[in-house]
Amino acid sequence: MHYIGRFAPSPTGPLHFGSLVAAVTSYLEARTHQGLWLLRMEDLDTPRTMPGAADAILISLEAFGFEWNGSVLYQSQRTAYYSEVFERLQTSGLVYPCACTRKEIADSAVQGIEGAVYPGTCRNGLMPGRTARAWRIMTEDAPASFNDDIQGAIHQNLARDIGDFVLKRADGLFAYQLAVVADDAAQGVSHVVRGADLLDSTPRQIYLQHLLQFPTLQYAHLPVAVNAAGEKLSKQTKARALDNANAAAALWTVLDFLGQHPPAALQRATTAEVWQWALGHWQPGRIARVRALTFSG
Ligand code: GLU
Repeated sequence: MHYIGRFAPSPTGPLHFGSLVAAVTSYLEARTHQGLWLLRMEDLDTPRTMPGAADAILISLEAFGFEWNGSVLYQSQRTAYYSEVFERLQTSGLVYPCACTRKEIADSAVQGIEGAVYPGTCRNGLMPGRTARAWRIMTEDAPASFNDDIQGAIHQNLARDIGDFVLKRADGLFAYQLAVVADDAAQGVSHVVRGADLLDSTPRQIYLQHLLQFPTLQYAHLPVAVNAAGEKLSKQTKARALDNANAAAALWTVLDFLGQHPPAALQRATTAEVWQWALGHWQPGRIARVRALTFSG
């Protein structure tokens, strides 16, 4: 099987350490498998997209010495395709309109692993006088398990742990879960390497893949870099943007975070030298098999 990997940043801000960890790992995995490495800009969630961030991410990736195959795919330009995929899912009979507001759901829902489990209010049709806001898909009360290359066996029950989830949002935008499944299939992606903050999304994505008769992918979820307080390094926790002028040192730090034990002397090397070392010494088995790992950089 041909290996096709990808990096799919959301341009909600500049590239930071956590996203660099996913970029480096997906890149090294693709290259060491003689595969392709694709780049997809997940700029679908326009209210969260920051103007200029997509270009800044591309400039950083170039400065860090990444070379992607083909042209960058922009999710914001793919609404027609997502509509087609959404219509295909509708033929399954499992997609239904939902009129509930966030507050109504919060008031009656039980808590699942990612917040409120939708109580199923609109499953059998909208109440009289209510209009559709979002579109949801029915989930199954059945085991949804997969084997993650880093995190091991993951078990979920979509109905109990997640609930019927949104495919098309109240603001008319297609949800991440639908877009990511649609694009991974369209791009022929075979292997997904990303942060463990998305581990709990994976059973939903595999469920949609089955319904759409798309191939199921192989997944590897990396430990998320957290600060001493256990908070994910992100724009919200004021994670520093990466310094393009110090790319080699940042790459070294990522390799260290990934348990690769890069030699200290490599800290003062060029990016090309760091990549050469990393490609020659890459040992994915050394990545910590945990969901979160403290990073004190
Ligand atoms: N766009 C997502 C993020 O930046 C990643 C999506 C994915 O890799 O599936 O968190």
